[in-house]
Amino acid sequence: MILSFDLDDTLIPGRNRFPTEKQNLFQKALGLEKVRRGTVQLMKRLKAEGHQVYVYTTSFRSASYIRCLFLSYGIWLDGIINQKRHDRTCKAEGRKCSKYPPAFGIDLHVDDSTGVEMEGQRYGFKTIIIAEEEEAWVERVLRILHP
Ligand SMILES: [Mg+2]
Repeated sequence: MILSFDLDDTLIPGRNRFPTEKQNLFQKALGLEKVRRGTVQLMKRLKAEGHQVYVYTTSFRSASYIRCLFLSYGIWLDGIINQKRHDRTCKAEGRKCSKYPPAFGIDLHVDDSTGVEMEGQRYGFKTIIIAEEEEAWVERVLRILHP
């Protein structure tokens, strides 16, 4: 299965505030962003189970920055979709939604936005919406995957 994760306010705090993973000196020196606590454990577990893990963000962070950010935690992302890649694919198909995971073969998308959830209901793709205050978010994602 291919799972994708949003960055802003889902894995990376912005407007939403939540506990983050510890940063090592290397990550601090490079000025890498902090990621939500549980991200590393969850992504490593998903990959160990044979799933593919993507990042799908409507930000203009470069693919190489995103690659480096997750590699610094020992996670090799199987796919990276940023705004540029989304636009290239979805505009060509004439799609107006903010995210459209099926265009990239994604089975399940994890996000903080109820707007994306509504798009999922409307255009037929599966989402898991994580709240700012949700501490047991990793367990919920795993429960949905292993009912
Ligand atoms: Mg977001």
